Amino acid sequence: MQLSLASQNGQAAREPGLETSPLAIRGLTVSYGEKPAVFSVDMTVVPGQMTAIIGPNGAGKSTLLKAALGIVPPVSGRVQVFGRPLDHQRGRIAYVPQRASVDWDFPTRVIDVVMMGLYRELGLLGRIRGTHRQIASDCLDRVGMSEFADRQIGQLSGGQQQRVFLARALAQGADLYLLDEPFAGVDAATEKAIIGVLKALRAEGKTVVVVHHDLATVRDYFDNVFLINTRKVAEGSVAEAFTPDTLQSAYGGRLATAQIDQIARPA
Ligand code: ADP
Ligand code: MG
Repeated sequence: MQLSLASQNGQAAREPGLETSPLAIRGLTVSYGEKPAVFSVDMTVVPGQMTAIIGPNGAGKSTLLKAALGIVPPVSGRVQVFGRPLDHQRGRIAYVPQRASVDWDFPTRVIDVVMMGLYRELGLLGRIRGTHRQIASDCLDRVGMSEFADRQIGQLSGGQQQRVFLARALAQGADLYLLDEPFAGVDAATEKAIIGVLKALRAEGKTVVVVHHDLATVRDYFDNVFLINTRKVAEGSVAEAFTPDTLQSAYGGRLATAQIDQIARPA
């Protein structure tokens, strides 16, 4: 019988989920100034499922993702990706940032944006080969954007840009996908295309974590929720953790009780 490394070195093995979770966060605090944006948060993402991160504006949702990716430094806490420190696992994570945070003033073709997803494989000086173009082109196809391959990214609608960024993430061939509000301000066709791709990833055994603002679609789209308002409010399956009580705690007075009852009532 083989003993895993972790089970031999005690402490880590006793924490449930730390070894097997695609993303396990412990005691994470992040601060931009004096007041923490994320405070003492634990999160254990379930493998092969779709999880929504939910909370009001300014709750720390984007900060949580950025800290998980090492984009912003934590004050304290740690992050493990598939049971190992982030630095060893970067190639296994794909990230689609909030669209508003990406500025495409300089001319770049859609196909080249998708190819950026392959840079890890290409290396800085690697030659782009036919197979790479084929991968990028297949990824554009998966998001329904093949016909736009040679357009300038800046000329596309917001929804179309969002699909291209998802195609870039797909090109990475990651095991864990982190998306920040992919459905914000997109057209209905894009929303349908994106959720279709995410569900297909899940069917392939990939893990998907989405910062999500639309409470009405949570039941349709997700297996699990993670409710946050600087601190963790609730975490678990939609049935267990997406309830009028947890929503009320996360949003405080910012959602009407009637609205919460309607959204969180089991179908
Ligand atoms: P959410 O994504 O849930 O809306 P954020 O993670 O973007 O929340 O922000 C959490 C808090 O941190 C907010 O109070 C926000 O104003 C603050 N914040 C976010 N980014 C920065 C930054 N780069 N510098 C200073 N404060 C920031
Ligand atoms: Mg945000």
